[in-house]
Amino acid sequence: MSNSSIIPYGRQQITEEDIAEVVKVLRSDWLTQGPAVGEFEEAFATMCGAKHAVACANGTAALHLAMMAAGIGTGDRVITTPITFLASANAATYVGATPDFADIDPVSYCLCADALEAAWKPDTKAVVPVAFGGQSADLPRISHFARERGAVVIEDACHATGGRFIFNGKQHRVGGHEYADLTCFSFHPVKTITTGEGGMVTTNDDKLAEKLRLYRTHGVNREFAKFSGPLAPAEPSPFYYEMPEVGFNYRLTDFQAALGTSQLRRLEHAVTVRQQIVSAYNEAFADLPWLTTPKLGAWLGAFQPGLSWHLYVAQFDFAKLGRTREEVMAHLRSKGVGSQVHYIPVHLQPWYAQTFGWKPGSLPNAEHYYSRCLSLPLFADAAIIDPVVAAVRSLA
Ligand SMILES: *Cc1c(COP(=O)(O)O)cnc(C)c1O
Repeated sequence: MSNSSIIPYGRQQITEEDIAEVVKVLRSDWLTQGPAVGEFEEAFATMCGAKHAVACANGTAALHLAMMAAGIGTGDRVITTPITFLASANAATYVGATPDFADIDPVSYCLCADALEAAWKPDTKAVVPVAFGGQSADLPRISHFARERGAVVIEDACHATGGRFIFNGKQHRVGGHEYADLTCFSFHPVKTITTGEGGMVTTNDDKLAEKLRLYRTHGVNREFAKFSGPLAPAEPSPFYYEMPEVGFNYRLTDFQAALGTSQLRRLEHAVTVRQQIVSAYNEAFADLPWLTTPKLGAWLGAFQPGLSWHLYVAQFDFAKLGRTREEVMAHLRSKGVGSQVHYIPVHLQPWYAQTFGWKPGSLPNAEHYYSRCLSLPLFADAAIIDPVVAAVRSLA
């Protein structure tokens, strides 16, 4: 925030209790990955109903670790949505795979199942559907299609911590449901809970969890039973370790984890306040002919009380309004309201366009969406409703 009088599109909420929990760890003997990380992982796994939660340095590292654990590498194709943060696609590049894109659904703005099936190639080994704004893509259909072809589903749920959705009359928790093999989260300050920088991968698969933990710490193993190298001792050793595979230093620190555990205690409250704000905006903007409020994808139906909304993305008909997006942003700002564009289509970023030959017009839904999108402020403080509504309504 450059100007404290401007309501930003997103921001963290830090309480005195959060600060006390961090200070407690700072006064302890352990700063890097230690007992507080284990506590955070346990609390997070319980929250989303996953068997395993593995904390790491950030959401991007979470995606990279998920790719590695799933064994994605050179010669493999990974399909994701173009309307996402860069990291969803970059993670495929980190492991030497080919990042690919399929168009979005024009209603939910999530990866479109039809488009994914049309874009599928025999070398596709992973799909990365993004829970865009907090709404999961059509995961039952996507996971069925992908798994039948031997591919894994890595849900990028960086927008959806604490979210639930109902499908076929059953409630599913993001991070713990059966439709993803691995689910990635981010705790960047604009996300639903924060650890400054931080991330998490959840999975119900023991082997995947073991690999996530291995790759998070340089690929180093300290378990005697698994030693296989030429220097392996005959007896358990107090110092010996082996590196069976190459990993990274993607650890989260203990003081960040303490912040995460403390934030997690208020997650349900944060999700509820965000839902209230989304409902209030939807109602307040319903009559504006130049603004389309967020909608649920057909597969989710009309009623989803448990979604964890990260973004409030409106579609503006800038021509009808008689203002460009830049003018709208400037007007909102003059009324004390920040706004942001989520996202510039990733396939048209110079590196993707130049490396893979993507051209404007190739993913028309994403590009049309991009020409009209603008995110309005959304974070866990209902006091933003009135000023944001007033500022938006004053546009016409
Ligand atoms: C924030 C975000 C990421 C990356 O998370 P970091 O913690 O910033 O590395 C990845 N994907 C999506 C969809 C995100 O919003």
